[in-house]
Amino acid sequence: MKIKNLYENKNPVFSFEIFPPNKNFLEEKLKTVTKELASYKPDFISVTYGAGGTTKSGTVEIASYIKNELKIETLAHLTCIGSKKQEIANFLKELKNNNIKNILALRGDIPQGENESIYNRGDYKYASDLIKDIKENEDLSIGAAFYPETHYENNDLIDLFHLKEKVDLGADFLISQVFFENETFLRFREQAEKLSINVPLVAGIIPVTNATQIKRITALCNCKIPLKLEKILDKYGSNPDSMKKAGIAYATEQIIELLSNDIRGIHLYTMNKTDTTKEILDNVSFVR
Ligand code: FAD
Repeated sequence: MKIKNLYENKNPVFSFEIFPPNKNFLEEKLKTVTKELASYKPDFISVTYGAGGTTKSGTVEIASYIKNELKIETLAHLTCIGSKKQEIANFLKELKNNNIKNILALRGDIPQGENESIYNRGDYKYASDLIKDIKENEDLSIGAAFYPETHYENNDLIDLFHLKEKVDLGADFLISQVFFENETFLRFREQAEKLSINVPLVAGIIPVTNATQIKRITALCNCKIPLKLEKILDKYGSNPDSMKKAGIAYATEQIIELLSNDIRGIHLYTMNKTDTTKEILDNVSFVR
């Protein structure tokens, strides 16, 4: 099924994100984790694409496993920075061969060990170039990324205009960067509506279960830790068990508030963790 239709026909839509195998997370282990996540019956599972294509084949393989063996809808991420059209076409062909109908079209960041020259090496500069290309050549439902607190390279208004371009060129739904303050997300929705960005805005939620990890992620993503969360991190950050419980409670509260404000899609950044994901889903089972 195309994810575009899922958002049209179901409310709310719950989805998960996992990352493909890498040297710390072997394929067999990931398959076990993914199978368990699939047993919680998400509406779809997305599979990230390692910066610069480092996990290219792993992305297709795990996405195919989700779609064809676990029979859950899947969304394959794809970044275009530094890629030639032919490489992208080959990846899209692989998706087609594996019956995968949904793609998250991204620009990507400069991969480790590379420099800015990567921007001039490929045929694409921005995610919008990739979206245009896919829309013209493929029959896929296309998602794109957005940043409730603004992408780190631009101020909010400019970033919003570029988001509008992605939608006008064919993005069917938008998934957000992690954020911890719902008000920021809801304010962003108001601004997006003013620009007639009318596709579903899906909230990307990450459970904060490890204080060190979350500080690294927020620094990378350019997203704020509100005072309320900072106090939780200070109080419970050094006790892994308490931190996990507090993080699950925080994410649960975020989700309930977003759904009460008619946000129709919740995308859980699972970090390939089954127990945390299950507890959150159990907490919100009354809305599913
Ligand atoms: P774009 O939409 O291309 O935007 C990038 C910047 O360029 C923005 O500042 C934008 O305002 C600006 N811009 C856009 N169009 C123009 C234009 N025409 N002229 C001038 N400026 C322009 N990364 C990975 O490597 N793998 C993943 O699997 C992955 N998954 C992600 C999933 C989600 C939900 C999110 C939110 C991010 C993900 N990322 C992933 C990270 C993403 O690649 C980076 O955030 C990247 O910096 C921007 O990607 P984008 O697709 O949003 O880029």
